[in-house]
Amino acid sequence: MPFDICFEIVKNGDARIITSRDLAMYDFLCHGFGTRSVNHKQNFCKKDFPYAPERLFTATQVHGNKVVVIDNTSQKKPICCDGMVTMNSQIALAVRTADCIPILILDPVKKIIGAVHAGWRGTVLGITAKAIEVLVREFYSDPADIKAAIGPSIGPCCYEVDNSVFEAVTDEKLKKEIFSKSRNRGRLMMDLRKANLIQMKERGMMEANIVIVPLCTACHNDLFFSYRKEGSKAGRQLNFIMLS
Ligand SMILES: [Zn+2]
Repeated sequence: MPFDICFEIVKNGDARIITSRDLAMYDFLCHGFGTRSVNHKQNFCKKDFPYAPERLFTATQVHGNKVVVIDNTSQKKPICCDGMVTMNSQIALAVRTADCIPILILDPVKKIIGAVHAGWRGTVLGITAKAIEVLVREFYSDPADIKAAIGPSIGPCCYEVDNSVFEAVTDEKLKKEIFSKSRNRGRLMMDLRKANLIQMKERGMMEANIVIVPLCTACHNDLFFSYRKEGSKAGRQLNFIMLS
């Protein structure tokens, strides 16, 4: 999907944030996918986000499939999880990424938000499906109402994995959808975005309600941090969503 139709780069001084036009329609919502210029709490809150840093809620990300409902900002820390959901308008949920997928979720009817961090491990464990299940089970969301934006992440152009990742996916039909040949022997290209899109559709979401930022973090290393390009020293983009 063409970038300009679905997304906008919002500039604020040196900072650049990517917003989904679909989510930006809701005046009770504030959201954005960070870039290299938006990478830690202080810099983020000062430059781009008119809320106090203590409202920004981040978890310790562990590449699992745990989704936690965040009720208040004083909730005991550290919380180890890769998915968070809240209906509290005092809380900005944020996930940090550098190649992994940030997914921002909104039920505009029930006014519930979620943020997910999905690398290959979390994707294989079904983290995004689990986040949708929590919305449905805990907040009685209708999946057909839920909207989601899949943020900047490593694309199938650059995400080369070895056979152990291929073997970790047990659904043969899914394998055909998300893996393709690599130029290198014994390696495969993986489409993490598609894998998460499929999870959301399988949980009853409509494809028309899901948008994908078509920018690869490794191809656009000037704009985004990329673990594959920079190694363990890579910084992290901060991606956030908040009811206001
Ligand atoms: Zn790429």
